[in-house]
Amino acid sequence: MSDFIIDAQNIHKTYDTGKVQVKALRGIELKVNKGDMVGIMGPSGCGKTTMLNCLSGLDDLTEGQVNIEGRPLDTLTNDQKTELRAQRMGFIFQFFNLLPVLTAVENVELPLLVGGVKPAQARIQAMEMLETVGLAEHADHKPAELSGGQQQRVTIARCLVNKPAIIWADEPTGNLDTKNSDEVIDLLVELNRKNAQTFIVVTHDPKVGERMGRIVWMESGKILDDGLSDKSDRLKENIETIVKENHDGAVDEIIS
Ligand code: ADP
Ligand code: MG
Repeated sequence: MSDFIIDAQNIHKTYDTGKVQVKALRGIELKVNKGDMVGIMGPSGCGKTTMLNCLSGLDDLTEGQVNIEGRPLDTLTNDQKTELRAQRMGFIFQFFNLLPVLTAVENVELPLLVGGVKPAQARIQAMEMLETVGLAEHADHKPAELSGGQQQRVTIARCLVNKPAIIWADEPTGNLDTKNSDEVIDLLVELNRKNAQTFIVVTHDPKVGERMGRIVWMESGKILDDGLSDKSDRLKENIETIVKENHDGAVDEIIS
């Protein structure tokens, strides 16, 4: 049995669109320890989202194997995979996907109610989670009454309320300005340290990448580089490129 919380061996994913075949993943090997915080970076279209979908069992592989907490995904039925995701995984996306008619606390307690937790208990747990993300005072606000950063923090509270072992985040700050992005990443880093939950964070923002301990670089469906973020030449190159492209005041903001 694998000791890794995520263990992907030689995964391939080919999309067959009828006319053309797109080889989105071409032999990915990835091992992640419990409590790791891993940034996934690489150019648009290189396969980051596909990899997340394949690792979390949202999408089937064309070839290879994925083990989550020692369980090979290909031995699970679709229902078992859905249950594994509901109980052990949380998802954070670029667009917050909150239900607009529900208040913040109602959005957060939804996964608990769906999972059969009694309403009074669900409310207590949802309020605790809102407290953790610093939004207890906004519990009765609807998403439209919250800033982008606050909405993403509600999403994080909803994602974490089931105490997932693995959190998948796909461009979680992609829709936020610098200040809100910083707040959200601070929160994820703090949660990772405090709860030893495993985070896999897709980002194109080198500033977010720097905060991730470990960086996996992808290109054309392959992993080109995998290592500690403070030793990553690619990350440094990326920041330098961005700095060169910004000749005005934005530079300080990016490198500070
Ligand atoms: P990234 O998240 O790094 O931008 P994606 O994983 O979304 O990249 O896409 C990787 C490649 O797979 C791209 O060439 C994309 O066009 C293709 N692709 C993604 N999803 C599908 C799909 N459902 N059907 C066909 N091709 C897809
Ligand atoms: Mg993507």
